Amino acid sequence: MLDLRDDAVIRSWLTERDPTRLETLWEAADRVRAAQVGDEVHLRGLIEVSNICRRACAYCGISVHNKAIERYRMNREEILDCARRAKELGFGTVVIQGGEDPGLTGPFIADCIRAIKAEVNLAVTLSLGERTDDELALWREAGADRYLMRFETSNPVLYAKIHPAVANCPSLDRIAMLRRLERLGYEVGSGVMVGIPGQTWDDLVQDLRTFQSLDLDMIGIGPWLPHPATPLAKDIEAFDTPDQQVVNDKLTTLKMVALTRLLVPDANLPATTALATIDKDQGRELGLMSGGNVIMPNLTPPRYRVLYELYPDKACVNETAEECDVCLRGRIARIGRTVGVGPGQSPKQRRKAAQQSNANRGAA
Ligand code: SAM
Repeated sequence: MLDLRDDAVIRSWLTERDPTRLETLWEAADRVRAAQVGDEVHLRGLIEVSNICRRACAYCGISVHNKAIERYRMNREEILDCARRAKELGFGTVVIQGGEDPGLTGPFIADCIRAIKAEVNLAVTLSLGERTDDELALWREAGADRYLMRFETSNPVLYAKIHPAVANCPSLDRIAMLRRLERLGYEVGSGVMVGIPGQTWDDLVQDLRTFQSLDLDMIGIGPWLPHPATPLAKDIEAFDTPDQQVVNDKLTTLKMVALTRLLVPDANLPATTALATIDKDQGRELGLMSGGNVIMPNLTPPRYRVLYELYPDKACVNETAEECDVCLRGRIARIGRTVGVGPGQSPKQRRKAAQQSNANRGAA
């Protein structure tokens, strides 16, 4: 096990480029992954329910900055159809993700969750951005199991730049919201982008420390990828920190995944689509071999999928759900891993449940 108590050590791993030394990092992360979460790779079927978004995030291709894109919102039956497909393909979880779309109302999402639970009884993860406490409580009561919301960067100054407040829609403190989600009983996921213009190596160290302090169930890490319709891509020099700038490349992303596995050993870590986008041949496999244990195959109907354009040339955009499933299962098998069965609950939740039952036994 590598000793990562010192921030300077983490920083030196992040900037390390020597392949022989890096072998130590990959091996340590893979060993901890095998010991903590095993060889199973859990598949979470992703349903991109809406590309309508009220936010002005400077990085995101479906933000209000993109005036050219056609907008869509899936209806209840379309969402249920995707959930049925997830069940047929043997996935244990569906992830309902979208822009921050006011048309995805509290009652509408609650109704979709109840219908999914009643018909296919899969675990339901939501990823719908910053929502009110009442909505989050309503969805939890309706049966939602998990909520995913990246804090994107732990640097508050950079975050305010890339995630500005918009009229009639205050920007919530995402860290505080993640803590509220945990209190509501959700399994909580978050994450960051790597190589955001203006992000420094010390910011990445703080991101890793924030993962630790939040004790997250799931942590998604992907490279920032420039979308030409966004301010970050159009005006990159206005954001850049020339001496300290983190690179948005595959190697840095993989190092972040590996260090996250070592620092939060029992979290679920996806090999992200953004990582698969910068290396279409090997990105998923490398993510899984650097500490990852989750993949989110895309179930969105192809006519909508092309419109959920967070960044150009997104991996898997032109495949059907079945093609995506076959491809990913092949990739998992080729690296000697197996596909997980069931909901793939976070090991941290099992640890918490065991601690609770021990406490109850002690009290009896
Ligand atoms: N609206 C919800 C939210 O903000 O959490 C969920 C959807 S949002 C599009 C999902 C994630 O996509 C974001 O958390 C962000 O990290 C990622 N993303 C958006 N634009 C990106 C880009 N240009 N490059 C890489 N990742 C991006």
